[in-house]
Amino acid sequence: MVSFYCFASLQPKGILERLDAGEVVIGDGGYVFALEKRGYMKAGPFTPECVVEFPDVVRQLHREFLRSGSDCLQTFTFYASEDKLENRGAEAAAKYGVEAINDAACKLAREVADEGGALVIGGVSPTPTFMNGLGREACIANFKKQVDVFVKNDVDFLLGETFVHCQEAEWATEACKASGKPVAMCIGVASLKTDYTGIPLEECAVRLAKAGADIIGVNCISGPIECLEAIKLMKKRFRRSWNQEALDDSTPRDESESNMKFASYVKAMEPRTVTRWDIHKFSREAYDLGIRFIGGCCGFEAYHIRAIAEELSKERGGKLPPASEKHGLWGAKRAKSTGRTSFPPLVVRTVGAFSPKQPHFDLIPGHDDFRQQTEMTTEEEVKKTGWTKIKDVSWLWLRLVIMQMFFKYMNGRSCVDLK
Ligand SMILES: [Zn+2]
Repeated sequence: MVSFYCFASLQPKGILERLDAGEVVIGDGGYVFALEKRGYMKAGPFTPECVVEFPDVVRQLHREFLRSGSDCLQTFTFYASEDKLENRGAEAAAKYGVEAINDAACKLAREVADEGGALVIGGVSPTPTFMNGLGREACIANFKKQVDVFVKNDVDFLLGETFVHCQEAEWATEACKASGKPVAMCIGVASLKTDYTGIPLEECAVRLAKAGADIIGVNCISGPIECLEAIKLMKKRFRRSWNQEALDDSTPRDESESNMKFASYVKAMEPRTVTRWDIHKFSREAYDLGIRFIGGCCGFEAYHIRAIAEELSKERGGKLPPASEKHGLWGAKRAKSTGRTSFPPLVVRTVGAFSPKQPHFDLIPGHDDFRQQTEMTTEEEVKKTGWTKIKDVSWLWLRLVIMQMFFKYMNGRSCVDLK
């Protein structure tokens, strides 16, 4: 009797129950970039077979996010659709199979989530099937292979992320909704203010809601500020109070329409990574906008998640994550007292080179520029992207120096003096 009571009291509340009650729910961060940097997955395919190959490493990363304040842990199943696991020379489908990879990811996330009463999110992402223009039924059948594994493992809810085409996000929503689990769906093109086919984000939000999404949000590709601007647009079309957004946010913030246009993308984005002070500010602004599900995306490490948890601690009943015991908030307090958190986000970031050719825009699935294949990418295909003709734009460093002098003059102190 006693043990039953204890067990029941430890059951975490569902995501919709929490959001409906006005709780601030914190997601986790970017597994793909983190594990590539640490040497456990391959840049290019970015498929997550390391859940089978290096389970301890994935388990540890889950644990770091949990320890930093994540209320939900996402299965590391980004790009784990069957067609992606065999795309462009990827061997994961043949070697392990879609079911084994998604199953291992679910078990790892659940194991760690149970250590701290967190929820488990089954995640889906963009697919070659959609890019090849194979249509609704093929797309839904493709997503279903992952969703079936999520249901078998009884994840708490499902989330679609980084969809740059509203249509694919709608079909992903349909496939996820059929599971009977709550569905969160994110669009990944915040700074364009439309999806890749020109559908305004306001309209995308309505379409996702009509397709059955319980939570609507944005993630990836753009940075925190663009994501907040996008959420403002998406909220416009809803009359009821907006308390169910997912805001998975990406690392690098820039003034361009996509981080992917930088030559430094994906492998040299460190100078563009947001700081924890940026995330303090971002979390506060997200909260003030009414956003109640806040998490991270590419480049988000555990300390970024901790910054969300610390900034919104008061709103979360004074709760602080275990990792804050080793932090004590002294750094944040000191930063605030010296006015350093008032700097514009990433004022110290570098300016990167640009691709001479903007991919993707105004194209429809099935177009040659989108086409995916099981064969390895050829030299000829790489040349067609224009990435081999990138010009040296290092003179732009000069602009950065001038900016620094300007800030120093205006503020009476250097914006890069972090002593
Ligand atoms: Zn991302």
